[in-house]
Amino acid sequence: MNSKVFLKSLPDVPFVFEAQLSLYTTYRVGGVAQVLALPETENQIKYLMDFSKKKHLPFRVLGLGSNILVSDLGLPGITCCMKHFQGIKIEGKTITALAGTALDDVVRASIKEGLSGLENLSGIPGSVGGAVFMNAGAFKTETFDKLISFTVLKEDIVKEIKKEDVKYEYRKVWGLEGCVILSATWRLDGGEKQILQNRREEILRSRSAKQPLDYPSAGSVFKRPVGAYASKLIDDCGLRGLKVGGAQVSTKHAGFIINYQEATAQDIYNLIKEVQKIVKAKTGFELEPEQIFWGKFE
Ligand SMILES: Cc1cc2nc3c(=O)[nH]c(=O)nc-3n(C[C@H](O)[C@H](O)[C@H](O)COP(=O)(O)OP(=O)(O)OC[C@H]3O[C@@H](n4cnc5c(N)ncnc54)[C@H](O)[C@@H]3O)c2cc1C
Repeated sequence: MNSKVFLKSLPDVPFVFEAQLSLYTTYRVGGVAQVLALPETENQIKYLMDFSKKKHLPFRVLGLGSNILVSDLGLPGITCCMKHFQGIKIEGKTITALAGTALDDVVRASIKEGLSGLENLSGIPGSVGGAVFMNAGAFKTETFDKLISFTVLKEDIVKEIKKEDVKYEYRKVWGLEGCVILSATWRLDGGEKQILQNRREEILRSRSAKQPLDYPSAGSVFKRPVGAYASKLIDDCGLRGLKVGGAQVSTKHAGFIINYQEATAQDIYNLIKEVQKIVKAKTGFELEPEQIFWGKFE
């Protein structure tokens, strides 16, 4: 689509034309989004969805880009980044957050109120929407554990979805294709603020001791296969430190691939494929990526 037509037809939504997606993903790689929209209200999100449908444009929802590998070739159509759609409301033991809010901000707000149930999710660098989308989790706690419901926008209708009406498991939630998650609500337990804060600090220390947080990455590349740990399989195959271009299997945590030195998305993709191939050949385990690939890879 002609860029001037595009610009004129999106008057009410903040957006960047030809946005460099490496600035919006934690791998710090990825080409250009034809349009990166940054809605601040539900109506703007509705407008964008409706607009993309009418114009037959691809439409993608981006949270904080911490579980995505975007192709160097970029993305056509609208990439709808939720990071400015933020807010947290606490009523008694119930906490509701808009989808673009950082999950870690929700964790901090809950601890400040003396509410327990989210503290083990401290330090996950995604948004509320991204956490619900894939049932993010850590330290034996998942996003869905204390979740009671979430709202989505689908085909111009806002719907509240109760947890009991959704099929979910480890790092997977069914039925969210074509939906924009708008908010999530958790019911938490009462807790001692200082104990919760201590637990948070313990978790943040453990993350920084075990994870290569000084390099760009998107966390664990692979899901935990049944009966094994992805990072141990990778380690046992001698792949710690393996490099393709500027991408490297982290020497600190073999489950992470890091953007070691000006990696391209294709370098990271090729390294993921190489790790899968070697682990399959040496151990028989098929590693399934937890991370999501957007756009074209060779
Ligand atoms: C250092 C590091 C540590 C990490 N540790 C963990 C961990 O301990 N546990 C864990 O589970 N993950 C971890 N991750 C991965 C990541 O933070 C989570 O998967 C997070 O939930 C992704 O959220 P996001 O907002 O960044 O989603 P994005 O990466 O932006 O998007 C991921 C997917 O969610 C969809 N999505 C995002 N928002 C919405 C929305 N509002 N509506 C509909 N779809 C949406 C996107 O379309 C995409 O398909 C880590 C990542 C890093 C970089």
